[in-house]
Amino acid sequence: MSTVWMNELSWVDYQARMTGDKPPVFLPVGALEQHGPHLPLGTDALLSAAVAFDAAVRVGGLVAPTLSYGYKSQPKCGGGQHFCGTTSVDAATLIGSVRDAVREFARHGVNRLVVLNGHYENQWFLIEGIDLGLRDVGPGATLEVMRLEYWDFMTPATLTHVFPEGFPGFALEHAAVMETSMMLHYHPSLVRLDLIPDDGPADFPPYDIYPARSDWVPPSGVLSSARGADAAKGRLLAQEVSARIAQAIATGFR
Ligand code: ZN
Ligand code: MN
Repeated sequence: MSTVWMNELSWVDYQARMTGDKPPVFLPVGALEQHGPHLPLGTDALLSAAVAFDAAVRVGGLVAPTLSYGYKSQPKCGGGQHFCGTTSVDAATLIGSVRDAVREFARHGVNRLVVLNGHYENQWFLIEGIDLGLRDVGPGATLEVMRLEYWDFMTPATLTHVFPEGFPGFALEHAAVMETSMMLHYHPSLVRLDLIPDDGPADFPPYDIYPARSDWVPPSGVLSSARGADAAKGRLLAQEVSARIAQAIATGFR
């Protein structure tokens, strides 16, 4: 049984793993969110699942089905909620999903759970879901949870190589060079290079306004240019990130 996808295992085979080699379980989290005219709505979920897959292969782990709906898109890091197709959940919904997942994996005997985030806006609600899930499970549990944003595993040297004209920061890296390059590596048939817009970098004030101002955001939804993206950069990023996440799993748990 060589699959890393949990949902391809029978419960019997899954139970055998949980009582046998006790693999780390990855829970990728993403979003259904506009990513410009050149990338698919599922980009954040597709990338978190792809990175989880690569890391799971390296550590002998299992990948649970991705939580594919994220917290509400914000103008400064995802373009905002006004785009057709962006389909988001309330914080309580995301927190509840993560809390339930933590409790269920603990019940299965998972002792290393890796919540692997691919959508900027999810971060604090994943933390809350993990915290409440562990509180449900109680202090006697053996489960530890690692939570991470995959882009934090990119080294400064690699970012300098990928962004020779300067790194705009991960918030503005929406549907831009990083995500487009990684999609060219993992899912090249889903990328429309001919449709990359010239927008960006977006220039936001140091405050937010509610209801959100859609006119702050480039009409394409891209916050900085994706020109300069290519599959070789995507491969470099994907390999660095998956190798360093694997290393974190080897050393970071109790
Ligand atoms: Zn994204
Ligand atoms: Mn996103």
